[in-house]
Amino acid sequence: MPERTTEGEMSEERFREEMESILIFQQDILQAVARGDPERHLVERVCTLEEQLVPGALASVMLFDRKRQLLNVYVAPSLPKDALSKLENLRPGPENGSCANAIYSRMPVFVGNVLTDSRWKNLWSFAKDFNLNACWSIPIRSGGTEIIGTFALSSFASREPNRFQRKILEVGAHIIGIIFDRSRREDLLRLSENILRNIRESILVTDEEKRIVFSNAAFSETTGFSASEVEGTRIANDAFPFFRTPFGDAIWRHLDSEGFWEGDVWKQRKNGESYLEWLRLSVMKDEQQRTTHYIAISSDITRKMADKARLAFLAHHDTLTELPNRILLRESFEQMAESVRENGTSLAILVMDLDNFHLVNDSLGHASGDALLVAVSRRLAHMLGQPDIVGRVGGDMFLALVEGAKGGSDAVELAERISESFRFPLIVDNCELFPSVSIGISFYPENGQTYEEVVRNADTAMEHAKSEGKNTYRFFHPGMNVDISDHLRIHNSFRQGLERNEFVLHYQPQVGVFSRKVEAVEALVRWDHPEMGFLYPKRFVPVAETTGMIIPLGEWVLREACQQAARWHAEGLPVPVSVNVSGVQLRRANFEAAVLDALARSGLPPEFLELELTETMLLEDSEGILKGIGRLKEIGVRLSIDDFGTGYSNLAYLKRFDADKIKIDQTFVHAGSRYQDQQGIIRMIAGIAHVLGLSAVAEGVETSEQMEYLVEIGIDSIQGNFLSKPLDVVSCEQYLFRYFEGNGI
Ligand code: C2E
Ligand code: MG
Ligand code: MG
Repeated sequence: MPERTTEGEMSEERFREEMESILIFQQDILQAVARGDPERHLVERVCTLEEQLVPGALASVMLFDRKRQLLNVYVAPSLPKDALSKLENLRPGPENGSCANAIYSRMPVFVGNVLTDSRWKNLWSFAKDFNLNACWSIPIRSGGTEIIGTFALSSFASREPNRFQRKILEVGAHIIGIIFDRSRREDLLRLSENILRNIRESILVTDEEKRIVFSNAAFSETTGFSASEVEGTRIANDAFPFFRTPFGDAIWRHLDSEGFWEGDVWKQRKNGESYLEWLRLSVMKDEQQRTTHYIAISSDITRKMADKARLAFLAHHDTLTELPNRILLRESFEQMAESVRENGTSLAILVMDLDNFHLVNDSLGHASGDALLVAVSRRLAHMLGQPDIVGRVGGDMFLALVEGAKGGSDAVELAERISESFRFPLIVDNCELFPSVSIGISFYPENGQTYEEVVRNADTAMEHAKSEGKNTYRFFHPGMNVDISDHLRIHNSFRQGLERNEFVLHYQPQVGVFSRKVEAVEALVRWDHPEMGFLYPKRFVPVAETTGMIIPLGEWVLREACQQAARWHAEGLPVPVSVNVSGVQLRRANFEAAVLDALARSGLPPEFLELELTETMLLEDSEGILKGIGRLKEIGVRLSIDDFGTGYSNLAYLKRFDADKIKIDQTFVHAGSRYQDQQGIIRMIAGIAHVLGLSAVAEGVETSEQMEYLVEIGIDSIQGNFLSKPLDVVSCEQYLFRYFEGNGI
């Protein structure tokens, strides 16, 4: 250790010695840094080395907390512990000691005698307690500028630092500054490494020649290329062939002139899969504004875009069937209408509504209803390909736009094909369903100038198809709108009709094939309308069903029929009466009570009342309906299944409902006279009915020929114009008197 002399007396040899000891000191610290010693350890090492170079000195490092504006001891290996606690939270200021002054003045502060120096005024007792007499302090700077703390040497002896000692203090403060900077940089480096590792975006860095020098984990995950596979290759390698395309060239040009580029690009993963990526490229430059690196940050947006595309799709399509919705249909209509105007052709608008769809929904559940709609939509879409378009516009309603020749022969053919296609069952939840559709057709521009108008008219035509027996198609003609007002007139005069007793019942006999007796009469309602004339149920029952008026009407029919049968009974003509029941009555009103009321008022024995329900009504096996009918059956009321064969024809249901009779629909009866196979069907129905203990009635028998084959087939009873039309009360009574016992039929 060189001996200290006063300043100015420095011999060359001494100077060399001092320099040498500083070098050794620096080398020692450097080695510790190279070993990767922790920061605190390194700072402590600086302190102890300094203490060795300046005997009798105690080294300390204080850190400045900029936010709280306070100084605290970081390391002071030789200061006693209780001294350290006295130096807590020292505030920079002119009287708080050397270190507080060094921060305060931003300059080195050398106090040779602390007990007489006012800069130590607030710490005099501390100095006394620990026998401190001198303290030299130098600010520690980060990055050579910002003051982050102080490095100090304190002595028990009162003294000023010589040149060497100042030098050694400066070197110490400098080295500590570097140590702090370095560890701060390491923290930052660690942080940025972590960011790169964990970031979800792919990051690729190239050198100025676009050779990849870095890629992160997200990049490998997205592309399937490992870091080692891409690093060192040029960016336009196999992984990103698009960079070699004219589009890629344009991106680079933009990048070089503007400094960045961003946009969506299609790329390919290692496995060949294409994906869409949002890419942001930027240029990194050095101080001389020379390009050093390119940085590519990107994220896979295939899913997001797919979601977006899906949203756009959903906005224009029905979610259940994925067919175009109203919005898309209207847009398509506008486009097609334009081409129709240009080519002088015609556009057919088909409104298609499933018949009795609510029955499927109510009886098999909404899931099956939905499944049926999907199946129907597939069938329709299959038949109507480009350029035609079919969509769903509501519940069970579909709309098709068909471009074709003027005159609409294409539309006829299409409507027939659609109706025809529904002859084949649709499989829904392992059930075979035979839905049918009612189709209304209108034409643009013949039947309307706007989308609304032509659709409304197709709708009107569809309503006509429905009211004329369903499962058929109708073309719109202006007369139909008159019929709609007819609907309104009927609706408006209904209540009055009931109040004024304008309804009447006619009765049609049913005759047993073997007994030749009148086994029952069916009550059929008519309306003697004051303005519209004598109306048949086809005209007003559907209206009454949609308006709910069928409920008071149905109750009236029940009461009237029971009273009439009771009267005939009293007159020695005990003929059962059968009454038609609407599904609306069953569903909405307290049907059971209405029947009991009619029986009670008339005094008719329950066995003389037959209720005619259709099989589709029975499919609506809601608890209430089932129980009500069950109770009526228990007291003796009889049950017939009307129009059998026109609905879902589920014979198993008949047993479940304990029906007494099935009435085979007249369409079968008529067809049977022409086709052998239809006769086969009737034979089969009758056979099953017998097995189930039901009797089979044929409706609408018009000719002797029909009568003959039906008798031959094994039908039990006959109803129809061949034997008797529906008759008014007086005529029916005469008929009964004449034929009730079977003589002469
Ligand atoms: P439905 O119950 O099947 O009644 C038989 C229909 O066939 C009656 O028509 C009858 O006049 C007709 N008909 C009978 N024999 C022949 C024949 O030989 N040839 C042809 N072509 N037709 C024949 P109507 O009276 O017009 O009644 C039609 C439908 O209206 C009935 O069909 C029934 O479903 C319904 N209906 C009638 N009265 C009522 C009622 O009081 N309430 C309810 N809810 N519906 C009723
Ligand atoms: Mg009937
Ligand atoms: Mg019938």
